[in-house]
Amino acid sequence: MTEMLNFKDVELFYDHVYALKGVSMTMQQGEIVALIGANGAGKSSILRAITGLRKIKSGSISFMGERLDGINAAEIVKKGIAMVPEGRRVFPFMSVKDNLLMGAFTRTDKAEIAATLESILTRFPRLKERYHQQASTLSGGEQQMMVIGRALMAKPKLLLLDEPSLGIAPKLVQDIARSIVAISRDEKVSVLLVEQNSRMALSISKRAYALSTGSIVLSGDSKSLINDDRIKAAYLGAEV
Ligand code: ATP
Repeated sequence: MTEMLNFKDVELFYDHVYALKGVSMTMQQGEIVALIGANGAGKSSILRAITGLRKIKSGSISFMGERLDGINAAEIVKKGIAMVPEGRRVFPFMSVKDNLLMGAFTRTDKAEIAATLESILTRFPRLKERYHQQASTLSGGEQQMMVIGRALMAKPKLLLLDEPSLGIAPKLVQDIARSIVAISRDEKVSVLLVEQNSRMALSISKRAYALSTGSIVLSGDSKSLINDDRIKAAYLGAEV
């Protein structure tokens, strides 16, 4: 397997807050990797560091063998990294169609863009049904599908998902979890999945990293972590 992402000894600060304290992690091509941890553990900061939204203080980040740190966010998108931010940032007064097309802003080939759009609508039939509706009229789960679809319109090699299950009805969480697995398999996209729903994240990922106050405290194969007593106590206790 080819190494896709290498995050080495990364430190990141917000003014006085020491948010990432020497974090190292890797991702192989095609993998789904989960990042779990409580509120404020630093999960979103890892995504911000990868996408160039926040400069790192020290360490290095490489993608497909090339350094990412120091490159601006727009260039990072062009390298094939797409992020679905937390909280479903939709363009509420635009149609589903236009929201999806916004995701293709780095691409120019109209025929290929149309083919990607068609495959997304096949994958998410609810979006096809609501294609001309304003995004604001969609349910939370449908909006989440739409923003995942929008990220896929960029044809990424690496998809970063920040809390896709947050505030979504349990039935739709399952649909979204299944879609993530199918997308990774069919489109050969690697997925870095940030979740507070640790059970869901561990059940669909191959490997996982558990983060606590800016440091990785546990990592390994998701199947073993789901049965690890420390993970059960810290992250799975309150969920059923
Ligand atoms: P959440 O689930 O709430 O998004 P998280 O694990 O993603 O949590 P981060 O958002 O990465 O955590 O935050 C890590 C630390 O950095 C926290 O202590 C947080 O309060 C702090 N932090 C995050 N963003 C900022 C900011 N813009 N300014 C100052 N401190 C911040």
